[in-house]
Amino acid sequence: MQHENTLAYAQSLDQQDPLKSFRTAFLFPQHNGQDVIYFCGNSLGLQPKSVEKYVLEQLANWADYGVEGHFKTNTPWMYYQKTTQESLAKIVGAKPSEVVAMNQLSVNLHLLMVSFYRPTAKRYKIIMEGTAFPSDQYAMESQVMHHGFKPEDAIIELMPRQGEYTLRKEDILAAITEHADSLALVMMGGVNYYSGQFFPLAEITEAAHAVGAFCGFDLAHTCGNIPLQLHDWKVDFATWCSYKYLNSSPGGIAGIYIHEKHGNNPETPRFAGWWGYQESTRFQMKKGFIPEPGAEGWQLSNVPVLQMAAHRAALDLFDEAGIENLRTKSLALTSFMQFVIEEKNKSLGYEKYQIITPLQANERGAQLSMICKEGGRESFDNLVAQGIIGDWREPEVLRFAPVPLYNSFEEVYKFGQII
Ligand SMILES: *Cc1c(COP(=O)(O)O)cnc(C)c1O
Repeated sequence: MQHENTLAYAQSLDQQDPLKSFRTAFLFPQHNGQDVIYFCGNSLGLQPKSVEKYVLEQLANWADYGVEGHFKTNTPWMYYQKTTQESLAKIVGAKPSEVVAMNQLSVNLHLLMVSFYRPTAKRYKIIMEGTAFPSDQYAMESQVMHHGFKPEDAIIELMPRQGEYTLRKEDILAAITEHADSLALVMMGGVNYYSGQFFPLAEITEAAHAVGAFCGFDLAHTCGNIPLQLHDWKVDFATWCSYKYLNSSPGGIAGIYIHEKHGNNPETPRFAGWWGYQESTRFQMKKGFIPEPGAEGWQLSNVPVLQMAAHRAALDLFDEAGIENLRTKSLALTSFMQFVIEEKNKSLGYEKYQIITPLQANERGAQLSMICKEGGRESFDNLVAQGIIGDWREPEVLRFAPVPLYNSFEEVYKFGQII
């Protein structure tokens, strides 16, 4: 795409944008009486205006029906998780029965490890990104120690090559082959939270399966950002949170995907709770766990209805917009952001802002991360003072994510002028 660094050009892209009206469905924090320019949807998505109505509806149901709300009302709580399965399935490319919203992300990571990290004396290693989000590192470390292994031996951390910031596909695949006989699991992010790199999930999964290992992904920065085909790629499992690109409330309900070949197998090991019990007989309260087929068989507890209501409101917007349409706009928005940053560097006469996110569109989502070795923190504080919200990661990285549901090309243009 050939961009121009002018307001008129940015406004013309906004006029042609078929998704432009979605912006009005969100509430923006204010700065000097105006909407902030919010490029932090990779950390916490904005609040859809409809969340209030959906949550109030459930509060009213609770008031009006008490315990009978589980069965009466037009959204019976007994089945409330089912109201999100179709939407989530479209977002991650799965069958509705392969996904369910439950718990929170780090909790789900542990629960999925129970099913998919079953090390033996010979096959016990886990491959992950060396720069994974801390919670994922702690989860993996504590899991291997729980099984009596040493993290430094059992966890293979993939690091970018000297002087590089992202992982090369050939290095990921080579590590899988190198540890073929001892590898139990490949467990990586879909999009790395720091660099914004989108990994080749299908090829990683294929390589892991070729050596007899399971493969799963943490989709915290991927879900709602990049369309996926988890089922067709034969990914074994995945989990995500809903408060980043999915805009479903701070600390909101997370979700899981389990391929049906595992999900429909009652022998797949898991930690069980009553809400994962076969639905038709759940209330007979019998001893001896019989799982509900599909991802629902991993639920432990009954549904947190207020969180799920916020999730439902946000997912309605995804249904309406369509994840593929969002991706089309996202590619254009992020490419424009890359352009305005490059223009800024040109005008300064040196590369003050070094983009470390892959420059190839198919290797990234919405987010651009840049290193600013000198005056990075100052630059960031200056943006905040002028109503632009991104985030700062010590020691030197600025991250900005223009989100296709609510950001505009004009905002990206203004960002380029202010930075
Ligand atoms: C945001 C994020 C988390 C956060 O975990 P919670 O359990 O939701 O607090 C974990 N892992 C990754 C990769 C993340 O991006």
